[in-house]
Amino acid sequence: MSSCHGDTPKASLLPNPNILPPRPAGERPIIVAIVGPPNSGKSTLFNRLTGLRQKVANFPGVTVEHRMGKAKLKGHQEVFLVDLPGVYSLTPRAEDEQVTHDVLKGARADFPKPDAVILILDVTNLGRNLVLAAPVLSLGLPTLILLNMADDLAARGGKVDITALAAELKSPVALISAAKGTGIESIQQFLLGTAARLNAPPLRVELPILQSVPECRKWAANLGKRASYRPPAPPIWTRRLDGVFLHPVAGPLIFAGIVIAVFQSIFSWAKPIMDFLQAEVQSSGVWMKQVLPNSPFSSLLVDGVWQGVGSVIVFLPQILLLFLFIGILEDSGYLARAALIADRTMAKFGLQGKSFIPLLSAYACAVPAVMATRVIENKRDRIATIMIAPLMTCSARLPVYTLLIAAFIPNTKLLGDFLSLPAAMMLGLYVLGFVAAILTARVLKSSILRSKNTSFVLEMPPYRWPTVQSLSLRLVDRAKVFLRRAGTVILLVSILLWVLAHLPLEGGKMATLDHSYAAWLGKAIEPLIKPLGFNWKIGIGLISSLIAREVIVSTLGTIYGMQGNEPSAGLHAALHQDLSTAGALALMIFFAFAMQCFSTLAVVKRETGGWRWPAFQFSYMLVLAYAGSWLAFHIAQHFLR
Ligand code: GDP
Repeated sequence: MSSCHGDTPKASLLPNPNILPPRPAGERPIIVAIVGPPNSGKSTLFNRLTGLRQKVANFPGVTVEHRMGKAKLKGHQEVFLVDLPGVYSLTPRAEDEQVTHDVLKGARADFPKPDAVILILDVTNLGRNLVLAAPVLSLGLPTLILLNMADDLAARGGKVDITALAAELKSPVALISAAKGTGIESIQQFLLGTAARLNAPPLRVELPILQSVPECRKWAANLGKRASYRPPAPPIWTRRLDGVFLHPVAGPLIFAGIVIAVFQSIFSWAKPIMDFLQAEVQSSGVWMKQVLPNSPFSSLLVDGVWQGVGSVIVFLPQILLLFLFIGILEDSGYLARAALIADRTMAKFGLQGKSFIPLLSAYACAVPAVMATRVIENKRDRIATIMIAPLMTCSARLPVYTLLIAAFIPNTKLLGDFLSLPAAMMLGLYVLGFVAAILTARVLKSSILRSKNTSFVLEMPPYRWPTVQSLSLRLVDRAKVFLRRAGTVILLVSILLWVLAHLPLEGGKMATLDHSYAAWLGKAIEPLIKPLGFNWKIGIGLISSLIAREVIVSTLGTIYGMQGNEPSAGLHAALHQDLSTAGALALMIFFAFAMQCFSTLAVVKRETGGWRWPAFQFSYMLVLAYAGSWLAFHIAQHFLR
């Protein structure tokens, strides 16, 4: 979940015209494909063999990437290695499996059929990894089977008889460690052999062609036995911790406890820093107004740019704190366990567990989440997941929620110091988004997106201590995304809004807010939003936040900044003039449900291949937002009276 807004995959390149040299008559470049399940060490091996002589490209027409590189052999022979997407089988279900399948069969017009295959398998998980050997070997291409992670196997007391395995598979087998570089010589030999054999007739492979994945599993299990495979013992800590975290009762309770603790700390720890930043933004605004000559330009600079962008930037500490926690949970291996616990629940709503990972990354931002749905093979499941991803509480909502909660929700304790009302409110909004998402999935999956359930295997990473390096990388990444947005989208909208809020000129003077174009826009939608407890000023915020949610914060900052309000009185006080507590609750509900994000709509259009799904998504979320905040407003009014 490290990438976000504005990340676009690399443009599709045609199949490496620059890297495949022209074929002289009678001689052709040798192409060897590296195939293996995800995490088997393909990239590590590929990097070791090619060094910097590589480049990434997209297969045309699909979003799947591959890498191509040159390996130098003895005698100046060159072999082109292509690192294909990681797959567990060659049954073309998902796009990446389809690409790997087609390339290996020579069925892609834009890519030559490889001359040989290097199949890399994780030897610490051989039973599952060998399943891929059957379809790969049955292609009939010369194949070298590399059992990777030999170091880990030995360290944890596992073993395997590679001579027996090679005899069974009728192909060369080598035990290697791509990370440590042991056993790599076997690859040189194989590649040299491939080069020599190039013009010889193709190999005859006498392996039975196994048709179905269950058959391949049975075959792989038998093979493992005949090769005296002893799997490595899982690290003792993994077993002990899993006993607790995956416990049917304790597991979900611990999960809930962790989530509550995270939300509470986001509030209590980030607050002092945020208050400090807020005060700095405000007092520097006052100072700038004092030193700058009184002119429209200084107003644009202070009220438009500084108040607008500044009011969003103060939320950076909170966002970073949230991602620090998510990073620790993910890197430590806990999040995968939480996914397994959640999977038990999600299945009841017709969603497959594979949807969980994209949905989880939607907590950062729906844009990478929508891209991450590519792992879901079933097209209908994938669309359902894309449709609900923006309901998960992305980080752009955090400033909006924080602002409204801090202004309207009293800081009373609920569970002593462990949980306060504001933190509970925030947690409630996150839960609301999640519940809305899975209920929507349920509706979609039992109507327009009905499909059969597919089975799902989630890989459990070992537990490990998160490293400072990896955590800081994540935070720097998030901070960059956040600041980039503040410096681009939010800056531009702030300037545009300032202009709209000061025009037209009235007798050579700028309009007051009440008579500005911005007010005209807000007042135009006021009849529609009045039933939700919002007036035209909030209306201006709703319109501007269609571009990106957090823009409402900068918009309100700009609007209130120019209302003659003492900036030091702050946004909170100003908000109370325009919103009742019931209206504030309704506004939060509106933001929980509405699809206010151009980047997400654009990426949904790209991933679904048209405007139909994003249009549907925009509409259903708007209906949900309107109905939800109407209800919230009326219920809250009733109880708060
Ligand atoms: P890919 O998904 O197949 O490209 O796999 P990667 O090359 O990214 O490797 C997955 C993980 O396994 C990484 O954390 C690697 O550092 C690790 N890894 C790769 N090769 C070895 C190895 O030989 N021994 C050990 N212990 N770890 C390895």
